[in-house]
This record gives sequence, C-alpha cells and structure tokens, in this order.
Amino acid sequence: DSVNCQQGFITEIHCPLTVPIRTQPLTDTYAVDPTPFARGKFATVRRCKHKETGIEYAAKCIRKRRRAADIRHEIMHEMYVLKLSENCPHIIHLHEVYETATEVNLVLELAAGGELQRVLEDQEVIAEMEAARLMRQILEGVAFLHHNNIAHLDIKPQNLLLTSALPQYDVKLCDFGISRLILKGSEIREILGTPDYVSPEILQYEPISLATDMWSIGVLAYVLLSGHTPFGGETKQETFWNITSGILEFPEEIFCGVSNDAKDFIQRLLITEPSERMTAKESLCHSWIKKFCDPENTEKDLSRRSSMDEANTEVSDVPSEFSKD
Ligand code: ADP
Ligand code: MG
Repeated sequence: DSVNCQQGFITEIHCPLTVPIRTQPLTDTYAVDPTPFARGKFATVRRCKHKETGIEYAAKCIRKRRRAADIRHEIMHEMYVLKLSENCPHIIHLHEVYETATEVNLVLELAAGGELQRVLEDQEVIAEMEAARLMRQILEGVAFLHHNNIAHLDIKPQNLLLTSALPQYDVKLCDFGISRLILKGSEIREILGTPDYVSPEILQYEPISLATDMWSIGVLAYVLLSGHTPFGGETKQETFWNITSGILEFPEEIFCGVSNDAKDFIQRLLITEPSERMTAKESLCHSWIKKFCDPENTEKDLSRRSSMDEANTEVSDVPSEFSKD
C-alpha cells in the first residue's frame, strides 16, 4: 500500500482504504438523541438509532475548526485509522461518516458498557484474573495498531470501552484523535496525552515511538491492580516530576495479594528508556498474561479482590488532559 503521511498523520491512503463521506443530514438516516451521553476533550458523543435497522450506534461529533484552525485533516486521520482497524476485534468499529459545513460525525459501534474508568470508580480494584483478561484484549488491540506503525498515544481508562455490562464484557480501544503514524526516518516530538499516563519521553520532548503506548499500558496495569496511579502527585508538576524520576514503587498497602508476576509485568513496562520496555507482542507472551489465557481459568473466580484497605483506596484525580500550548 502506498501511504502518504505528514508529521504522523495519514493524510491519504490509497487502495484499499476508502471511506464514503456522506453529506446528507445524519438525522435522515438516524434518530439522534439530542443530549450527548459523553464528551471527550474535543468531541460530543450521542446515541443514535438507524431508522431502518433499529441498530444503535454512537455518533462522535467533531468540529472542523479548533482554536481558529482547520483540523479536518486530523479528523480524516482518525477516520482512516478506524477504517484500517476494522477487522481488529479490540478496536471500536467505524460504521459510517457524515460531514456538514462545520462538523464531522463518526458513526461508531456503540460500546454499551461505557468507559473502563467507570468500572474503576465503582470498584476501585479489579481481580487479578479479570485485570489480565482485560489487559490481554487491550494488548491485542495495541499490537494490531503497532503492527501498522500507529501509536495511539492516549491509552487510559476513559478511552477503553466496554461492550456490555459486567461481568462478561469485552474491551475495545477508542479515540484515535491524537494517534500518530510512526515511520522510520521521521521523528515526532509533541506534547500530548494525559498527565497520569504520559511517558517520560513526551515530558522530555524526546521522540515519540510505539513504546510510548507501552508506558501507558504499564500505568494502566498498575491502576487496575491497585486503584492508585503510580506517579500521581498533588499537582500536575509533581506528577511530571514523579514520572521523570524513574522511581517505581509497589506499596504493600495497595499491592497486598497482587502476584509477583503482575508486578514484574508492570516493571517491564514502566522503564524510562523506551527501547527497554516490552513491546505489545512481548507483553502478550509475558507469564502474567499467559497464565490467564487458558479459558478454563477465566471461567473460575471472577470475583473482585477484596482488600482490607478498600476504604482507603481512591482512584486519584480523574486525569485532566493538558493542551499543547
Ligand atoms: P475525545 O477525542 O473528545 O476524547 P472520544 O472518542 O474519547 O473523544 O469520546 C469521548 C467519550 O465518549 C469516550 O471517553 C466515551 O466515554 C464515549 N464514547 C466514544 N465513543 C464511544 C462508543 N463507540 N461507544 C460508547 N461510548 C463512546
Ligand atoms: Mg477521549
């Protein structure tokens, strides 16, 4: 395939990726909820129902102008990444695209279970077996992206969606709004991401790579298993300092009952030097993930880890995103 890119954007992908962009009103085809059920940093997301099939979708509405700049190419990039990923079961599926003079609506498969973030807020910690099952699905999505040289760059519980309610849900990656195509010979340095999940190389303004996502995966595993972020400080500055310090700890109060295997998994990801981190493929082969691959194991104990310190565990501040300026 010939791929043209500009600073990490897929600006144009020729055959076989084509996405029809419809210009008739979205409401001709869908009954759209007037009130959004979710908002991200840039998008508003509404439920909509196909008038003929009755199937429900999520319409992610993105304005084409942001801070007086035309960002249509960024939306097109997101659309192409979704299209490229259409056969990956762990990435949210793009159904249709509608464009008006001012905005683009991405009609997406509806993830009825909502954000993984909500589960964390409700439950504080997730049983190890369940955490490993989720992690494997997330890693499969990330491995697919990385195989295509795409770095997601915003992996966090708000961008991980559950297909249905507990406990038999699956998890899918969404939000490719700041993803980048990483090609040999081109260096991308940018400030983007979410404080608690951001990697040291981004904070140091060093080149972004696929390994940048693996740092966030390490943070995510830590949060799932302990209910705490590994580097969260009182302020954004303190958090950034903690991230760049290279100090990683597993306090006994919040990690009691968590296996050494799980800690080893995290330790092999939260490494300052990007090239020393496990890749997505290597992570899938780590013994912590492998241990729970056996379907017989996954059937058993789906119960939550009951920890004595539960009263004390609080998911630290919902990470507030920081902007490029
Ligand atoms: P942003 O780029 O503004 O962060 P997202 O793609 O992350 O936009 O969407 C914002 C929020 O909308 C998500 O965090 C999630 O809660 C919800 N959302 C997005 N897509 C879907 C979907 N397909 N199904 C269910 N909820 C979704
Ligand atoms: Mg988002």
